[in-house]
Amino acid sequence: MAFETFEVTTSSRSQMVDITKKVREAVRRAGVREGVCVVYVPHTTAGVTVNESADPAVAQDILEHLEKLVPRGRYRHREGNADAHIKASMMGFSQALPVEGGDLSLGTWQGIFLCEFDGPRRRSAKVAVIPHGR
Ligand code: ZN
Repeated sequence: MAFETFEVTTSSRSQMVDITKKVREAVRRAGVREGVCVVYVPHTTAGVTVNESADPAVAQDILEHLEKLVPRGRYRHREGNADAHIKASMMGFSQALPVEGGDLSLGTWQGIFLCEFDGPRRRSAKVAVIPHGR
C-alpha cells in the first residue's frame, strides 16, 4: 500500500477546496474493493474535513464562523499566523472514509475539503487505501 499524492493550489488566505473528485480517482486507481481510504494533509496551517458540497454556502459559513471563533490577532507564535494553526487543528489533518465496491462511500451531500487557512499556497494531499483484511 502506497500513498498517492496530489497538489492543490489555493487562491485566498482562507478557503475550502473540494478535493472529492481527486480522492475518488485515487481510490479507483488503487483497485481496492473494500477497505478504508485515509486522506492526509502534511501541513500545519491547512487541514481536511468532510461536509456538504452541494451548497457552497455551507463551506462559506464554516470559514466565516471559524474566523469569528479564532480571529487574527495577538498570539504567542511570532510568525503571525497562529490563527491559521489553530483553525487547522480544529479541522484536523486526516479523514478516514469507507471504500465499498471499489469506490468512496460518501453520503449524498458529502464532499471532502482541503481547508486552507494561510494561503494562497501550493498544498499537497495524500491518499492511502487500506484493503479490508481477510
Ligand atoms: Zn506559523
